[in-house]
Amino acid sequence: MAEKPKTKPKPKTKPKTATKTKKAKSQEFEYKAEMKQLLHLIVHSLYTHPEIFLRELISNSSDALNKIRFRMLTDTDVLDTDADYKVTINFDSKKQTISIEDSGIGMKHDDLLNSLGTVASSGTLEFLKQMQENDKPLDGNMIGQFGVGFYSVFMVTDEVTVETRHADKGSTGYRWKSDGQGKFTIEEIDKKTRGTKISFKLKDEYKEYSEEHRIKNVIQKYSNFVDFPIFLEKEEVNRVSALWHRSKDEIKDEELTEFYKFISNDFSGPLGHLHLNLEGAVNFKALVFVPETAPPTFYKEHLEQSLQLYSNKVFIQDDCKELLPEYLRFLKGVVDTDDLPLNVSREVTQSSPIMVKIQSILVKRVLSFLENWAKNDIEKYNKFYKNFGQIFKTGVNSDFTNKDRIVELLRFETTKTEKDAVTSLKDYVSGMGEDQKEIYYISGEHKEAIERNPNLEYFKKNDIEVLLLSDPFDVFIIPSLNEYDKKNLVSIDKADIDLKSDEKDEKEALGKDLAKSLIEKFKQALGDKIEDVIESKRLVDSAATLVVGKEGMDKQMEKMMKMMNQDYAGGKKILELNLSHPLIKNLGKRLIADASDPILVNSILQVYEGALLIEGSLTQETDFVKRMTELMVEATK
Ligand code: ADP
Repeated sequence: MAEKPKTKPKPKTKPKTATKTKKAKSQEFEYKAEMKQLLHLIVHSLYTHPEIFLRELISNSSDALNKIRFRMLTDTDVLDTDADYKVTINFDSKKQTISIEDSGIGMKHDDLLNSLGTVASSGTLEFLKQMQENDKPLDGNMIGQFGVGFYSVFMVTDEVTVETRHADKGSTGYRWKSDGQGKFTIEEIDKKTRGTKISFKLKDEYKEYSEEHRIKNVIQKYSNFVDFPIFLEKEEVNRVSALWHRSKDEIKDEELTEFYKFISNDFSGPLGHLHLNLEGAVNFKALVFVPETAPPTFYKEHLEQSLQLYSNKVFIQDDCKELLPEYLRFLKGVVDTDDLPLNVSREVTQSSPIMVKIQSILVKRVLSFLENWAKNDIEKYNKFYKNFGQIFKTGVNSDFTNKDRIVELLRFETTKTEKDAVTSLKDYVSGMGEDQKEIYYISGEHKEAIERNPNLEYFKKNDIEVLLLSDPFDVFIIPSLNEYDKKNLVSIDKADIDLKSDEKDEKEALGKDLAKSLIEKFKQALGDKIEDVIESKRLVDSAATLVVGKEGMDKQMEKMMKMMNQDYAGGKKILELNLSHPLIKNLGKRLIADASDPILVNSILQVYEGALLIEGSLTQETDFVKRMTELMVEATK
């Protein structure tokens, strides 16, 4: 299990109940407020798929069995060395009871407090509450995604008893009890064997889960792939061997989907999968899935687990970070290799050259897989990119070996793409006119906002395509690309961009000398608010725009810096003037008539702040409106 931030519940100052024997002291604890809220939501709002409680409990047992099996690879000094690894389910349909018992690692007192008393993820509660507020149905099936699976049991019962003893020799047995309301109790018990037993009486409306056929049916639906035998009373009910060991044509699509759901906790099937069986310098088998959608907390909290590592069918590790680079962490699946030493430990997996080789091969195979989609199944590729493009593209900065391939897989909206369509750099370049030497881009918050940017006017008029970068990650990636196909990637927000001026426009523009004086006047009026004032070649309809100096930072990047650091003032911009624009020409005339005309300075400030407003960085709105009112008073006289 991945480490998660947890806060402990507080024990009440005095143990409330105490039974006769000294050993069986029962201590009462109170859930933290957030846990209470979560439990309330589970009990009162989750109605669909109540049967998943069984999947969650079996899955916890399977985790606990994996842990002890893994430990025993190197350390056999544990309780019940010879015990079988198994899950046993007993039921009594008359009494409406069921119990799930395993011979796993068990829990210590602290585990009971930390694991069974706290919400693993703060995002979970937030997410569930939001769903509820928006009247979206809360689906019990989703609960496994949030690391609170155990609590799904409170959908079907009013009180749960957990009896457990940790595998360490000399450990103590405990009984944990809770009604899923505000409190739980822990008491010492005399338990001889290692492992955990969870038992409870089902609510009347869920009594079907104490009946044999129903239990069997749920196990076959959700837990077929559990790697340990599950006994329903005396009968073993799951019989599926490691799927990835079978040959491709032997595996049915439904089996793949079920297996994917089983390992990912996703409730819908995968977008696609890759099945590898490699023999040679390194030997491994892998079954890797691309999910159909990103889990709700994917970009906020890293709760999801990526690949599981097996060594010759024995589970070694969940979420094995060594198997994949960060930018591919959206993948789910299993990697199984015979090449690791038998006494594998975390240290071994962290430093083994075998892992490095596996990773390198896996990455290349996954890239080929995505390339194939990009070429032959664009719809799937775009779906993948929409969900995971944001993390995937960071590979450009982190994976130098495969950078060129990742760059080919990048997708962008442009001034020429239809709604929701995207294009590759390759397609962009093939659409470039003969005169165009560079690849142009502009960044901003979303397509519509960027398209209003006056800096685009020249490009629209001359039918030059511009990449619209609306993902905040883009500004960290695209500038570092520098070039593609020997063509520079250039921000059209920059002042030094090489544009041809339009001859016709030049004729209509302000004369050279007057333009020079007007630009001087602008500089005087704006003082150190700006770096410079220059003539613009890129504007068509607008009077002015702000651009970034040669050394300046991308505007979108600057916005992010400001968000992260309130004190960060940002660099000064360059104001570009459209000398053919009627307003600028009129200001030129005013300047000749009366250089001290107050309307002149007011208009200059207004032009500047108007440009700020358009790029979304005007902070003195009241001054802006006040000046506008003054100018309108003049105009309406
Ligand atoms: P998750 O399994 O996603 O961590 P759960 O709420 O299902 O979330 O379980 C919380 C934790 O309780 C587990 O991570 C594990 O540490 C502990 N736990 C639950 N069931 C068992 C069990 N049968 N044996 C050992 N530990 C268990």
